[in-house]
Amino acid sequence: MASAPFGSTLPWSEPSWYTGRPSPYYKESHRKLRDFMRKWGEEHIAPYTEEWSEAGAVPPSMYQECAKAGLLVPIAAGKKIPSEWARYGIVAGISPEEWDGFHDMVLWDELMRAGGVASLFIGLTVGAPPLLKFASKQLQDKIFPEILSGEKRICLAVTEPSCGSDVRNLTTTAEKTPDGKHYIVNGEKKWITNGMFSDYFMTAVRTGGPGAEGISMLLIPRSEGLRTRPVPVIAGPLSATTYVTFEDVKVPVEYLIGAEGNGFKQTMVNFNHERLWIAFQALRGCRIAIHDAFQWALKREAFEKKLIEQPVVRYKFGNMGRQIDALQAWTEQIVYELEQLSDTDGARLLGGTTALLKVESGMVCKYVAEECLKIMGGLGLTKTGQGARIESFYRGVPSYVVPGGSEDVLIDLGVREALKLMRQAEKAKSKL
Ligand SMILES: Cc1cc2nc3c(=O)[nH]c(=O)nc-3n(C[C@H](O)[C@H](O)[C@H](O)COP(=O)(O)OP(=O)(O)OC[C@H]3O[C@@H](n4cnc5c(N)ncnc54)[C@H](O)[C@@H]3O)c2cc1C
Repeated sequence: MASAPFGSTLPWSEPSWYTGRPSPYYKESHRKLRDFMRKWGEEHIAPYTEEWSEAGAVPPSMYQECAKAGLLVPIAAGKKIPSEWARYGIVAGISPEEWDGFHDMVLWDELMRAGGVASLFIGLTVGAPPLLKFASKQLQDKIFPEILSGEKRICLAVTEPSCGSDVRNLTTTAEKTPDGKHYIVNGEKKWITNGMFSDYFMTAVRTGGPGAEGISMLLIPRSEGLRTRPVPVIAGPLSATTYVTFEDVKVPVEYLIGAEGNGFKQTMVNFNHERLWIAFQALRGCRIAIHDAFQWALKREAFEKKLIEQPVVRYKFGNMGRQIDALQAWTEQIVYELEQLSDTDGARLLGGTTALLKVESGMVCKYVAEECLKIMGGLGLTKTGQGARIESFYRGVPSYVVPGGSEDVLIDLGVREALKLMRQAEKAKSKL
């Protein structure tokens, strides 16, 4: 049955279920979250994004506002919220038991739509899961109250100046002191999102020999010997991309995440959610761009016609619309599948698929950004006014292409994973 439309009526500016069309995935609680987030974003974020972009930072008080609204809890947890976390905040009255992967999708979609502030949470959404999934209870009990209340912030530090895609060869070392009570960390990490304002660095370090087996995950508090400096990147300063240096940083052994040698696997398990979440952001980025381009095409006249009356312009919208809705449908299918699977089965069966979904997200963004920019004409290259959101989206497209796994690397991974599953299926069939 169709329901009441919500949000913009411009074609492809909202997901199809917002327009009133039926969907098997969204229930009343998803609509409740969507309505809450839209209102909250329009009150607390949208009016200030231009000011924050000009200042080059979001004020710390905004992070506290997000904590107060209960946003940090689902952002740290992803698709499943531990029930005891209800004490740190509940968004829109939706309990941890009710929360699912589609709530996660709606939350990110609306945060992205509100603008600017979404980049504040990247560190939390990629840095918290190893703590939640693999750390000791003592460490969780110490750190989660700090980071879920917004008092402290966390980020994920894996990439180094000399190794990104090739995580197996990272060189930052963590050596145990002779008394066995501490690790001494030395090395460098680069392009660490949110690092400038983080208090904790969830860091992949080498505790053993070469290769994946020698890698461990260590939570490193900001302390003597840990230095950060900004790395200016194309999308601007709000995500606080950072170069981190560790020089004889002393870390208690209790800050090791799980067992030594598990760091590579812990990094990989994280990727399903990270790549999905990039798709969530890409989708809303595309919808914002097509919304602004449509508004312009309906009113701008050239050669005695509105732009939308030009078949070439309509051709662009048709091609953008079909790609955005196809990406939405694929993303929802994967959210649904991950919802039904354990994390381990999800990583085994869908690791390659989420890699390819992330690639597709970047490709759709590239296409939509370029077509919308062209429809806007000069306004598409202008940082203020009606083309400003498209200019910013166009500039930000590489952020969907390289971080979270570079396009070329992920395409190859997608095929290798598909072949692995094919061989497993052949083996299972041969036993029948
Ligand atoms: C804005 C931004 C934010 C980031 N945030 C974080 C963060 O918070 N935490 C973190 O740990 N990291 C972060 N990163 C790092 C990011 O994950 C890496 O940049 C990415 O994994 C690519 O690694 P690299 O830059 O070392 O490129 P390289 O690994 O050197 O690869 C360069 C290029 O070589 C080609 N290539 C390399 N290997 C292969 C292969 N096997 N098959 C085919 N082609 C290949 C690809 O075209 C690839 O793009 C961020 C990066 C950016 C730019």
